[in-house]
Amino acid sequence: MHGLMQQRQLTISSVIDYASQVYGDVEVVSRTIEGSIHRYTYRDCARRAHRFAEALDRLGVKAGDRIGGASWNHYRYLETFYGVTGLGAILHTINPRLFAEQLAYTINHAEDRFIIADAACLPIFEACRDRLTHVEGYIVLSAPEHIPNTSLQNVICYDDLIADSGDDQFPWANVDEWDGSALCYTSGTTGDPKGVLYSHRSCVLSAYAFNMPNAVGVGFRDTLMPIVPFFHGNGWSVPFAAPMAGAKLVLPGRDMDMAKLHELIVGEDVTVALAVPTIWLSMLEHMRQTGTDLGQLAKIVTGGSAPPRAMIADYESDYGVTISHAWGMTETSAATTFSHPPNGVSHDAALDVRVTQGRPVFGSEIRVVDDAGEPVPRDRDAPGELRARGFWVASDYYNAPDKPAVDSNGWLITGDIGKIGPDGNLRLTDRAKDVIKSGGEWISSIDLENAAAGHPDIVEAAVIAVPHERWQERPFLIAVRRQGSAVTGAEVLAWLSKRVAKWWLPEDVAFTDEIPHTGTGKIDKMALRKQFVAGKSGFATGQT
Ligand code: AMP
Repeated sequence: MHGLMQQRQLTISSVIDYASQVYGDVEVVSRTIEGSIHRYTYRDCARRAHRFAEALDRLGVKAGDRIGGASWNHYRYLETFYGVTGLGAILHTINPRLFAEQLAYTINHAEDRFIIADAACLPIFEACRDRLTHVEGYIVLSAPEHIPNTSLQNVICYDDLIADSGDDQFPWANVDEWDGSALCYTSGTTGDPKGVLYSHRSCVLSAYAFNMPNAVGVGFRDTLMPIVPFFHGNGWSVPFAAPMAGAKLVLPGRDMDMAKLHELIVGEDVTVALAVPTIWLSMLEHMRQTGTDLGQLAKIVTGGSAPPRAMIADYESDYGVTISHAWGMTETSAATTFSHPPNGVSHDAALDVRVTQGRPVFGSEIRVVDDAGEPVPRDRDAPGELRARGFWVASDYYNAPDKPAVDSNGWLITGDIGKIGPDGNLRLTDRAKDVIKSGGEWISSIDLENAAAGHPDIVEAAVIAVPHERWQERPFLIAVRRQGSAVTGAEVLAWLSKRVAKWWLPEDVAFTDEIPHTGTGKIDKMALRKQFVAGKSGFATGQT
């Protein structure tokens, strides 16, 4: 027998309509790409989002069409999260730091019809425009006077486009909560980037969970500042969670300069800010140098890689700021587990919990499995492969039938290795996927190995992650020289610098006579890590 409750769909547009009606005067503050501070309210945001949906409709965009978005966090980009999805189309959030090839690959794979980009992101499209197979035009998130000269064709000014529309009430499309809403590609595995297609329902539910006290715990008295870019797993749910909570939103734009970020945190009375550990390490340094504090900031949410224990301790003791450490992936709509110590434990015992990746919030589940795929009991102190499932966890990758996302039991294969203790807290110990995470961004060790092995004096190359104080992890190259060659590390790095992005360049190069291999002939990275990173378990514990 069906329950007799109203059949309201969990749609993203309902979130901004709610914020507009109930918290219409709450501010959204942005640092624009030009550097000025812009202020308006959720009511304004909703109006402009409706107008944008109408404008896209006029451009012929249909439900299910993919629209690329490449922008730093500011109010216009926020509006597109609602305007695009409110029409039933799908916002493909693009990481502007990708190489031209990866960028073109994802845009073509998604078959994006239009690209929404802020002025700062236009050059990346100029570099690959001839390779883009489906793009019909570019909508620039600017006022007309700030649109730069560009070689791109069919460039449309966003502000003009929505001014022409004039329909603040343009009706949202009738979308089903299971329909796709946002598409985010992840490079966090080997091979080509893979698309994670969120539904309306998964975005709404993960934002609900985000606001619960066991997760971040956000309400209308809070001011949220997502320093994490919106292209990273939907900005960890903030574009939906903040309006849902009626919380003031502060968007930092493109400038990741610590003084600028600090100015916003203090000046706008931010209470909760979110970023990868690299940012928080730099902020600590900035405050020590300038003798400042963090004003009203009470909570930092950090994820993406393991935060150092000392960093958590320093924020707490020196600045009175609590660190909420979260684990998640693009595939799990960002945050899935959060670490919170129980009441009444000692300072040290609390820190012991905060360095763990924490417990899942209701709606997501995790388990660790052994080599046979069997769940490892919590009291057995043995690591295994981490699996996840839940209301906002991917079941498949977009248009990639040959790349299964889940195991035969339907649990997401995360590529992370860890343990779940009797207290239910997850402790990551390693990573099975062959990638390095530097400052929150992926570096493919395989691509680096291939580039290094292309050097005429190198027979074999292996790349592993080494702990790094600022970037958390950096690539480290281990190579076997061709017999008789005396090629130096500096020469190899010079060779690589012409083949990979600067931030991909290994920290160092070591030469060895032989690279160890596993029984199946793969490079034995575990053995290499033991040999070259002995005693430094930064990834596992964050204690770099
Ligand atoms: P992404 O899909 O880019 O968000 O990356 C997700 C991956 O980042 C995870 O599978 C982990 O390897 C890593 N990661 C995320 N959060 C943490 C954390 N709290 N501690 C350690 N690694 C993390």
